[in-house]
Amino acid sequence: MDNSTDCCCSELADMAVIGMGDAEGMDERIFETLDLVRNYGDEKWWLYASTCRACGQNWMVAQEERIHDNYCLKRIDQDTLSAIVEHSRWPPDFLSYELILRLGREAGHVATFLDSRSPVLVETAHDLRQARPEISIEDIAYALAIPTKQAKRLLKV
Ligand SMILES: [Zn+2]
Repeated sequence: MDNSTDCCCSELADMAVIGMGDAEGMDERIFETLDLVRNYGDEKWWLYASTCRACGQNWMVAQEERIHDNYCLKRIDQDTLSAIVEHSRWPPDFLSYELILRLGREAGHVATFLDSRSPVLVETAHDLRQARPEISIEDIAYALAIPTKQAKRLLKV
């Protein structure tokens, strides 16, 4: 990767989870060539679509910078991008913050909070429950990568 005009698109899986500020600088290399095409907007502030200016590949990106600090990228074709731009029709993959947190967890890119009742954990636990009222404590704990007991305490605040 000495050639700065190259992009990383071909190195990535169709669905990739990349840690922010990872040691190899993978995230910087990826985003160097991605141009923002469309933001989902307020309701889903983490979601946007981008196109690589080097190779033309389109990506849907979820920027999860609240808990585990990951980018989730999904390769999308031109039709999918057009549906996003023209009709605000987004693929379902990244519409739920819970799912994005789970993707980070499944990829093993999780954060550890020194403060077990960190305000951002409290806030996110409540947001997860608001987004899916029937969510179990175990699911919240899994998404946040914390013990079930800790998840319970977060929701008591
Ligand atoms: Zn590219």
